[in-house]
Amino acid sequence: HSLILEEAGILVKQVHDPSQVLEVLASFAPDLVLVDVYMPQCTGLELAGIIRMVPEYLSMPILYLSSEMNLQKQHKAMQVGVEGFITKPVVPDELASAVILRAERMRSLRRLMTHDSLTGLYNHSSIKEIIENTIKQANRSSDSLVLVMLDLDMFKQVNDYYGHLAGDQVLVALARMLKHRLRATDIIGRYGGEEFVILLRKVTLNEAFTLIDTLREDFSKIAFSSGTRDFNCTLSAGLSALTEQGSIEALINAADVALYQAKSAGRNRVMTDAAASLL
Ligand code: GH3
Ligand code: MG
Ligand code: MG
Repeated sequence: HSLILEEAGILVKQVHDPSQVLEVLASFAPDLVLVDVYMPQCTGLELAGIIRMVPEYLSMPILYLSSEMNLQKQHKAMQVGVEGFITKPVVPDELASAVILRAERMRSLRRLMTHDSLTGLYNHSSIKEIIENTIKQANRSSDSLVLVMLDLDMFKQVNDYYGHLAGDQVLVALARMLKHRLRATDIIGRYGGEEFVILLRKVTLNEAFTLIDTLREDFSKIAFSSGTRDFNCTLSAGLSALTEQGSIEALINAADVALYQAKSAGRNRVMTDAAASLL
């Protein structure tokens, strides 16, 4: 079965010992699990039950491979919340397309849950989770990490003067610019309405400042239009750098304070956290 799936371009990980399943689920992060109904150490039903007990895997598609044509048994298996059955012997094309269909659905569902629909960036809850994990990683490897809090200036006025739709276009344009300008390893999220958060890895505070300040300047030159009226929009940003054993709260707070200073100093500027500048 692995071979059939691999030939269809699917990355497959086989697990022969049920006690290793949770470990592999965590490291391999599959889009779908295919289980045999009858296995030596436990049944597919029991295994699906165990997977379903982990909150993260509540929506993980589980497909049974079974020669079991007994409908009553299939019904019982469905109660554990499995996606369906594939009967053995399988027809290769059917197996591959059944798996691809469900895996793709899972991916789009997951995307809906983790991404903001307007900008396509990570949403608030997923960006926070990613920042937290990245901080842990950076603390372990002592990599440098700069957090940027970015907020559009006087955006309420932009909406009031030019309309909500024009405002949305500004948000989309900024998101697109961030995606184009930053490296694939940098992480970008929409933190709130017109507030964005960026995590820059392996850069100094000075390098980050130059990068974000150039971005700020270029963004301010973009001409937006609503009907016949053209307008510009500016942004302010606050930067903080990860200190040893720093927490997510400390990092976000420090960037927030710097952002606030940039706002009160007149907006359309980038400021760095005072403590971070001394690092
Ligand atoms: P400041 O420079 O101090 O940040 O002022 P501001 O007007 O940008 O800040 P404020 O927090 O007063 O207003 C934020 C505005 O952002 C209000 C809200 O209408 C707008 N906004 C938030 N989310 C969206 C969105 O998804 N689309 C549009 N068009 N506007 C949004
Ligand atoms: Mg604002
Ligand atoms: Mg704001």
